[in-house]
Amino acid sequence: MADYEGVIGLEIHVQLKTESKLFCQCPAEYGGKPNSRVCPICLGLPGALPALNRAAVEYAVRMALALNCNVNSQSAFARKNYFYPDLPKGYQISQYEFPLAENGSINILGEANIEKNIRVSRIHLEEEAGKSFHDMDNRHSFIDYNRCGVPLIEIVTEPDLGSGEEAYALLNKIKRIAEYLDITTGNMDQGALRCDVNISIRRAGDTGLSTRREIKNMNSFKFARKAIDYEIFKQMEIIGSGGKVLQQTMLWDEKTGITMPMRAKEEMDDYRYFPEPDLKPLEVSLDWINEISRNLPELPDEKLDRFVKDYKLTADKARALIASPNLADYYEKVVNNSGDPVLSANWILTELLREIKETDIEHIKLKPENLGELIKIIKSGQISSRIAKDLFKQMITTGRAAGKIENIVKLNQISDKKQLGKIVENVLSLNQNHVKMYLSGKERLFGYFMGQVMDKTDGRANPGIVRELLTQALKYSKGQ
Ligand code: ADP
Ligand code: ZN
Ligand code: MG
Repeated sequence: MADYEGVIGLEIHVQLKTESKLFCQCPAEYGGKPNSRVCPICLGLPGALPALNRAAVEYAVRMALALNCNVNSQSAFARKNYFYPDLPKGYQISQYEFPLAENGSINILGEANIEKNIRVSRIHLEEEAGKSFHDMDNRHSFIDYNRCGVPLIEIVTEPDLGSGEEAYALLNKIKRIAEYLDITTGNMDQGALRCDVNISIRRAGDTGLSTRREIKNMNSFKFARKAIDYEIFKQMEIIGSGGKVLQQTMLWDEKTGITMPMRAKEEMDDYRYFPEPDLKPLEVSLDWINEISRNLPELPDEKLDRFVKDYKLTADKARALIASPNLADYYEKVVNNSGDPVLSANWILTELLREIKETDIEHIKLKPENLGELIKIIKSGQISSRIAKDLFKQMITTGRAAGKIENIVKLNQISDKKQLGKIVENVLSLNQNHVKMYLSGKERLFGYFMGQVMDKTDGRANPGIVRELLTQALKYSKGQ
């Protein structure tokens, strides 16, 4: 089946982090006591009327502009009818015939790191459904309507992706852009980003489309990648053995790593869409679009180019630094203080990210200004890389300020053997029990003695010399 290729299109849902829900005043924030954030509108009680949240429209337009879409000056809401307990109205307010935005595109790094352009068919606004819990009780299911009515955008791509890897790259890129645009929490555990994947295969070089299968509502990009690759393999197997792929909705089983048919074409949904009578058409003026456009932040690709060009970073390092807007901002503040973009990048990507997760960067005690100062001092050659790393460890736990670091550094390292020898002797005589334990085989205590000497010198002792002196002194104790 080497002459067949995968064909994949994605429908990506992004939860918007507006204060209130899409059509009512209830808080949109994740969590809360079940069914405490509801009102007649999001519960769909008779007579309740929806009113559109302006911030949600603005967020959607931001994404539309970031993905190079045309924003329609007029779009419309429609009712998508289906019956499920998590949907109290019996329909979801979405956009159908007239979406907010269309005809966009986005570049991804595809197979073999070659840039590939993926077309975006449309972006529309819709509301979230509630959440069912089927595993809390043997006989009952439970429903939390807090999520009901939270704003979403759905981003639909053309079937331009060729593999799980490419879909994965696209999903991560969309997530990153949404984070840069500050329109989502990006919290995958809370379902802030989810996708439906549509997969078919065709003879390589063909341009037509074959029958596809779909896996709905995947909330892990890694699982989406796996499921797509499995589907491509499976469909090749079906075609290879003379069978036919049927249009089906598939279920992905995380445990076994395979997909299973959920329902066949005959039972495909008929949503009986019709225009939402309670909402006027959505008008977005050109002035507003221009204003939103002017206020767009620098996007990941632009930042990447600028980092490579201005800071002379390799593309790989620049890409690692722009992974999140917070990390990129942190890096630039460090550079402002250190004056050395490459050394700063190395320290952040190796030392800093070894100590903390990238997502924790906004809560970190070590201020970028202070790390910048440290790097400046390192660059000046005043301290050994060993001391630099020790200092760095202290700074990251205590958040120690730059002035203090300079003081420590100004009082140069102590390398005087006489001075250090006295301290070593003192430490050993104060810790005679430890010395006995060490001599009877507890060799790990060497580090403890080192630490004591370092403590007594405020970390200024030359560790090489201390090690040498300690080794000698302990040997001598043994001889006695
Ligand atoms: P529907 O509304 O029935 O879900 P759409 O035409 O809106 O269908 O397409 C939904 C998604 O499925 C889009 O991302 C599209 O690119 C993708 N898609 C459509 N046809 C195919 C196909 N033959 N193979 C793979 N993906 C497809
Ligand atoms: Zn409400
Ligand atoms: Mg679909």
